[in-house]
Amino acid sequence: MARYHDSVCRLCRREGAKLFLKGTRCYTKKCAVERRPSPPGQHGIRRRKMSDYGTHLREKQKFRRVYSVMERQFKDYFVVARSRPGVTGENLLRLLELRLDNVVYRMGFANSRPMARQLVNHGHFAVNGVPTDISSYQLRPGDRVEVREGSRSLDPFKNARAQMGAAVRPEWVTVDPERLSGTVSALPRRDQMPLELNEQLVVEYYSR
Ligand code: SF4
Repeated sequence: MARYHDSVCRLCRREGAKLFLKGTRCYTKKCAVERRPSPPGQHGIRRRKMSDYGTHLREKQKFRRVYSVMERQFKDYFVVARSRPGVTGENLLRLLELRLDNVVYRMGFANSRPMARQLVNHGHFAVNGVPTDISSYQLRPGDRVEVREGSRSLDPFKNARAQMGAAVRPEWVTVDPERLSGTVSALPRRDQMPLELNEQLVVEYYSR
């Protein structure tokens, strides 16, 4: 599968927004968006008026980059979101939020989505007791996510256990820090997905 290998901070600078791809560093003064807010590259500093198409495209790219989803897979998510009853934009967000790597991040097992994806891909999690290493795995209400027995003594999970109790989590997940497990308790509503993203622009982008 194609992957992005360059500096992830460049992605934030390109979008002109903090996408929180580097964990704790994103909350410090070392954050590249705070140090150099202009887009990357030789001509990044030039001011250009954004076209209507450009505005829609940038928002779509921002979504993809927040959730680290490649173009083809993102389009597939949109097709599924549009086919479901309800508001397409909210359906799209919900599909992205219910990816296993995102839920691992939301539960507090990792301090960034890229870190969560790596932990999932390395086989440290089980869903409903079944080892699962597919980061795009779609969770449903009632699904239980837990760190596998053999992985619980690893440093990332020792740290997570210490921090999970005090962490702020969305209302649609519950966690048990002692057992290093959590449950998706409900489908997330739009107001429970605190993202500074405009899903309507993405819907319009694909509806051109
Ligand atoms: Fe983005 Fe985090 Fe890098 Fe800041 S530190 S530019 S928020 S990835």
